[in-house]
Amino acid sequence: MIETIQGSRCPACGLTVAPAAAFCPRDPVQMTPVELEGAGEIVSFTTLYSPPAGFRSPFHIALVLLEGGAGFICHGAETRGLRIGSRVVIEAVDDVYYFYHLGAVDRARLFWRRAGRAGDRMQAIARSLAKRVRKGRERASR
Ligand SMILES: [Zn+2]
Repeated sequence: MIETIQGSRCPACGLTVAPAAAFCPRDPVQMTPVELEGAGEIVSFTTLYSPPAGFRSPFHIALVLLEGGAGFICHGAETRGLRIGSRVVIEAVDDVYYFYHLGAVDRARLFWRRAGRAGDRMQAIARSLAKRVRKGRERASR
C-alpha cells in the first residue's frame, strides 16, 4: 500500500507542507491537515558518510516533491540510478520514511508483495509508473 503522509495546507496561500505544521511559514494562519500520497519526484539527493547517530554510513537522503508541492525529506537504501525527477514511492518503517526508486524493480516487488490483498492493484500501479519512468529515460537518452 502506498503510505499516507500527514501534511498540512494553508487556507490563505495554498502552500502544502509535510510533515504537518500548525502554522503557515508565510502567513500567521493556522494550517488545515491534509493526507498526501507517499509518492513523488526526486528534487535533490545526497549521501552522507557521517550520518546522524543511529544510522549506518553511507546514509542516503532525498528531497521528494509530493503532490501539492510539499517537499519531504526521506531516507533511502541506495541512490544508485537515481536522478532528479525520478519517481519514488515512500514507505514508513518504524516511523522513519524511506524512498524506493521505482526503477529498482526488485525492491519494488518486495515492497508490493508485502502489500498483501491490495498487492495486485498496487502492482498494476507500479507497472504503469515503471513504464512511465522507462519512457522518461528513453526520452532523456535520446
Ligand atoms: Zn500561507
